[in-house]
Amino acid sequence: MRAVDIIEKKRDGHELTREEIEFMVHGYTRGAIPDYQAAAWCMAVLLRNMTTRETTDLTLAMAHSGKTLDLHDVAPFIVDKHSSGGVGDKVSPVVLSIVSAAGLPVGKMSGRGLSFSGGTLDKMESIKGYRADLSEDEFRAQLKRIGVVLAGQSSDLAPADGKLYALRDVTGTVPSLPLVASSIMSKKIAAGADAIVLDVKTGSGAFMKTEDDARALARIMVDIGKMLDKKMVALISDMNQPLGHKVGNALEVIEAIETLRGDGPEDFSEHCLIVAAHMLRLGSKAQSTEAGRALAKEIIADGRAWEKFTQLVQAHGGDVSQIENPERLPHAKIVQDVASSRSGYIARVDALEVGLTAVVLGAGREKKGDPVDHAVGIDVHVKVGDRIEAGQPLLTIHANDEGKRAEAEERLKAAIQFSDTAVDPLPLFYGTIE
Ligand code: URA
Repeated sequence: MRAVDIIEKKRDGHELTREEIEFMVHGYTRGAIPDYQAAAWCMAVLLRNMTTRETTDLTLAMAHSGKTLDLHDVAPFIVDKHSSGGVGDKVSPVVLSIVSAAGLPVGKMSGRGLSFSGGTLDKMESIKGYRADLSEDEFRAQLKRIGVVLAGQSSDLAPADGKLYALRDVTGTVPSLPLVASSIMSKKIAAGADAIVLDVKTGSGAFMKTEDDARALARIMVDIGKMLDKKMVALISDMNQPLGHKVGNALEVIEAIETLRGDGPEDFSEHCLIVAAHMLRLGSKAQSTEAGRALAKEIIADGRAWEKFTQLVQAHGGDVSQIENPERLPHAKIVQDVASSRSGYIARVDALEVGLTAVVLGAGREKKGDPVDHAVGIDVHVKVGDRIEAGQPLLTIHANDEGKRAEAEERLKAAIQFSDTAVDPLPLFYGTIE
């Protein structure tokens, strides 16, 4: 077999066999297929799509490209969650703290920023000393000791995804249903989850722009999980505007801290309660989603979630004094408000533009391996439906470079649109697929 023939076959819109898919995945993982051929193949998949059978074969080839983890000696039932990626999505640290405080162990492998969408690891690494690259023994020991781990993807679990993820980020090949589905599900399968809550975003700041595409992505991931006997729930959630207010690494850690202390933004707090509720239900800690939500709320209110987050940060070597005093987290040299030039109702806060602007400021990567600036980002003070008066602050830009701040201001002003008449707030969720 030759990689070039497989690239051409997909380029011309034909269905690949399981052997051809495995050849590409394993060849790239081993280094026998170079980046440029893998990138061309990803682009062909993005443009030509894959059948359900091809997507399933791709997922399994990626899941078995390395080791698979069995954590049942540490925890009898493994519940995991994964988001399809968005802007302002700092759900994992909050939800993991809640769920593990309820007595359900969660060991999650998270990713880095991808294109305009932030990554949990980049956010957690805003905390000085936070070490995400745990060995398997360290991962197991921490899960056993404190019931929660928020680590990076170890290079021997689904290594094909590790390589493809970084390649797709910088080759314009992220927003493809089969590539996103296989990326997410291969990691979850390799990490040995028994039950998975998927947070599938739709809207401008999601990889799936339309609700139909998000539903199709959710459906295929749920079907792959069920075929492998996993309990699955997929939530279809809004990503037309950023989730919460803060976008940027340290800024998002601050918002997660506020939420864990019971003082987070309404939309983000509710989103976390719902994701946690489903995990608690799947893990048999609650009889229903409503009971799970009530339990999650109680765990935040009585301080158990905050205590668990503190333990998590400490276990990963992070500086706990920074989360106790968030003003000690990295902060930008320039912090500037942008005021509204007019009165009216907020009709749109384009999440994609906000995410791309955060990358311009340095919060994300422009090419593979770039460092991120943990301090920079955007605090968006408004939500769709809000009534605003002229002169009121719309957002605050946190920048380390005056030129980038000025560019960010221009872009962000264009990202916010007004209406003279009242606008309905956006829903948090559009549906659930079980
Ligand atoms: N999250 C992932 O893990 N992979 C993708 O491809 C997109 C979002």
